[in-house]
Amino acid sequence: MSLLSVKKDFPALNQEINGHPLCYLDSAASSLKPQVVIDAITKHYSQDTANVHRGIHSLSARATSYFEATRTHVKEFIGAKEEAEVIFTKGTTDSVNLVAYSFSEAYLDKGDVVLISTMEHHSNFVPWQMACERKGAKLIEIPITDDGDIDMDAFKDLLVDHSRVKMVSISAQSNTLGTINPVREIVKLTHLSGGKVFVDAAQIAGHHPINVQDLNCDFLCFSAHKMFGPTGLGFLYGKKELLEAMPPYQGGGAMIKDVSFEKTTYNELPEKFEAGTPHIAGVIAFKAAIEYVESIGLDKIAAHEKALLDYATAQLENIDGLTIYGKSKTKGAVISFTMEGAHP
Ligand code: PMP
Repeated sequence: MSLLSVKKDFPALNQEINGHPLCYLDSAASSLKPQVVIDAITKHYSQDTANVHRGIHSLSARATSYFEATRTHVKEFIGAKEEAEVIFTKGTTDSVNLVAYSFSEAYLDKGDVVLISTMEHHSNFVPWQMACERKGAKLIEIPITDDGDIDMDAFKDLLVDHSRVKMVSISAQSNTLGTINPVREIVKLTHLSGGKVFVDAAQIAGHHPINVQDLNCDFLCFSAHKMFGPTGLGFLYGKKELLEAMPPYQGGGAMIKDVSFEKTTYNELPEKFEAGTPHIAGVIAFKAAIEYVESIGLDKIAAHEKALLDYATAQLENIDGLTIYGKSKTKGAVISFTMEGAHP
């Protein structure tokens, strides 16, 4: 399939803005939706609307089976061992908040250390700052080089200097610099020091293959809306033994087993972390988004993006007064720049 032919799959591109065909360059913030995803949402609301996991009537059984089919598909898409390790959340931000809260309740003590890098999105920074404040732990920054890479020497020094690093939380690809970080190596070094690793995969999902068992990361998350899926939906992968040891993040329906005034017991994974009615239509439609990506092929997408990045970089570098930020050799298809005299 020629990648140019995918344009027709996105109805939003079939319009003019200011008299020109719409050209959309903001996919890192949120991607447009292909017709197959829009159709899957419409089908759910027009034919299968019901709550999941609680009704025994036909619509609920159908909605539940489609809902769980997405979990299985996400499990395969990220190479997780089992469905219990895949939690549906509201998005990357929600996933980080979940882990920052529950992991720190179970594992973070006064004087422990959490490391994050300078290039992290606020959603992979503020929740850890809040957790460290709550627990009396230290949040320390891993510096980056002038080219926009993680300073791996400084990272190794931090692991040596601080014997109590409990968590390293890092983006797989930076949303500002485009840098694709050496996650496998970061995981290896962190594990040798006794810490765990959380991977913010918001920018890499749908652009490059992800395999959590190969990376051996402890947690990983991404948002559906940056990968052709609905807004208000995301995924959290966590190693089962860690998720099992962590307390629930929110209380409510679905996350409980037995409830009484004396004591409430919690459901098994993944429901323990899925309180309340989830984004059912979004979850079901996200399967169509994964299938859409797979029908093109992640290798093809990555190669096409590399060609676009090289072309766009060369063209932008010809413009007087324009400065590009992020020159990593592992840069993915994100370009940040400033233009003299123009407000960003
Ligand atoms: N991390 C990264 C690297 C991102 O690019 C973004 C979105 N720009 C987020 C986290 C936050 O994602 P969301 O707003 O979907 O929760």
